[in-house]
Amino acid sequence: MSRFLLIGPPGAGKGTQAEQLSLAFKIPAISTGDIFRHNVKNETELGKKAKAFMDRGEYVPDSLTNDLVRDRLSQSDVADGFLLDGYPRTAEQVTELDAILAAAETKLDAVILLTADTDEVVRRLLGRAQEQGRADDTEDVIRRRLEVYEEQTAPLIDIYAGRGQVLRIDGLGEVAEVTSRIVEALERQSGTSSR
Ligand code: AMP
Repeated sequence: MSRFLLIGPPGAGKGTQAEQLSLAFKIPAISTGDIFRHNVKNETELGKKAKAFMDRGEYVPDSLTNDLVRDRLSQSDVADGFLLDGYPRTAEQVTELDAILAAAETKLDAVILLTADTDEVVRRLLGRAQEQGRADDTEDVIRRRLEVYEEQTAPLIDIYAGRGQVLRIDGLGEVAEVTSRIVEALERQSGTSSR
């Protein structure tokens, strides 16, 4: 029973931590960004629609994103848990996820917020641009992605904090160190809630 969200600005290390947590908890990590990139690469209908938004650093429209997640969460491998990386990112996506979970008579166990300051995330993203050549890792697009995060996604933290579900984790440091921080915070949280 581990159902988690991973939220944080671009470059905070969500993808890397999602991989680690997926191994540690033996649950699938679902990254909407990875699914969109896969579709872009394979030139699917969804990929063609998503590409223009992604290249500009904008969010793919909620209707497309919500359909994709609804479909993914209906698959059997998520029955015992999942980690959503990069979803929800808008208030409308929170509403959709709430509905999906309510229909499945289940709920989230925790929202992991990975923090990192702006200088650090820009530095990381520019480094990644050189290593991986992602189309949305140019400086202008990086700046836009950070703005979009602040405008549309940062407000979600208050929504989940209001539900008492946010674990705030410092994303700076070695990968294994950050993973340990997350695992410890999750253990502390489940210890408290079962008392
Ligand atoms: P990521 O790899 O999570 O940074 O996502 C890369 C890009 O995919 C984002 O900049 C968006 O264009 C798109 N994307 C990923 N997840 C979402 C989402 N939940 N809602 C809208 N767009 C998304």
